[in-house]
Amino acid sequence: MEDKLEKRLRRREYRYEREQRYLRKRSELNEVLEEVFDQQTLMTLYELMNRRMIRDFYGVVSAGKESRIYLAKDSEDRDLAVKIYLVVSAEFRRNRLMYVVDDPRFKKTPKDFRDFIYLWARREYKNLEAAYESGIPVPKPYFVRNNILGMEFIGEDGKRYPTLIEVELSEETYIKVYEQVMDVVERLYRKARLVHGDLSEYNIFILPDDKIVLIDLSQAVHVEQPIADKLLLRDLKNISRYFRKHGIEVEEPEEAFERITGRPPLIPP
Ligand code: ATP
Ligand code: MN
Repeated sequence: MEDKLEKRLRRREYRYEREQRYLRKRSELNEVLEEVFDQQTLMTLYELMNRRMIRDFYGVVSAGKESRIYLAKDSEDRDLAVKIYLVVSAEFRRNRLMYVVDDPRFKKTPKDFRDFIYLWARREYKNLEAAYESGIPVPKPYFVRNNILGMEFIGEDGKRYPTLIEVELSEETYIKVYEQVMDVVERLYRKARLVHGDLSEYNIFILPDDKIVLIDLSQAVHVEQPIADKLLLRDLKNISRYFRKHGIEVEEPEEAFERITGRPPLIPP
């Protein structure tokens, strides 16, 4: 009898402590995040924490105008990169409409800009998923809920790896990296049926073993979208420019375009 009662009390005590801990954490988090995020975003965050997709938040990895990226941990102690799109303005929708219309995967384009941003986050998740499943080096996507996307953190001990813009490499390494980038663009097109659309030295991580990881696939488009050709050619031009600047002999963007798609780029009128 005694034993049972004691157990029950202990269990209750334990639960109480856990709840307190949770509340404390929740209020600390509240203070920091409340200044940045609107009520609905906070609700989504708490929902993700209740569902144990996110356990704890650590520092801000990047604070842009339209999104913020946090280092977080999930309930299995895995590092996460949590990308939170700020629910900003109607301008966000206007500037991005061209990426979304005619996407065969998303039939409707929301009028409401909050819904539009949710769509934008879902699209990035889908793009990451398609790329990841085709064996292309991108962060593994974990979850998406409203304007919050969770993915694999590309780094070590809570410190992200550098992007190409942040490093100086040897000529030999530049050549190796260039070959990887060209291979990845081709496989992204042929296997995942995607064009990155914002490919540059800012969105390519370089790992300690000189392997690369592409990030920021929010504006990636399906190859069948009318805008795909233009974006592919632009991506290829950005890549050529960067590697040429570092003294590497590169393929002409138009030739690469033809090799990848099987047809020459149309010269715009
Ligand atoms: P920006 O306008 O600054 O490019 P963005 O909204 O396009 O921001 P991203 O490019 O996806 O967002 O991410 C911004 C920055 O956050 C990246 O440059 C990188 O430093 C960091 N980052 C993004 N994803 C990850 C990740 N999975 N792991 C680690 N760091 C990341
Ligand atoms: Mn970016």
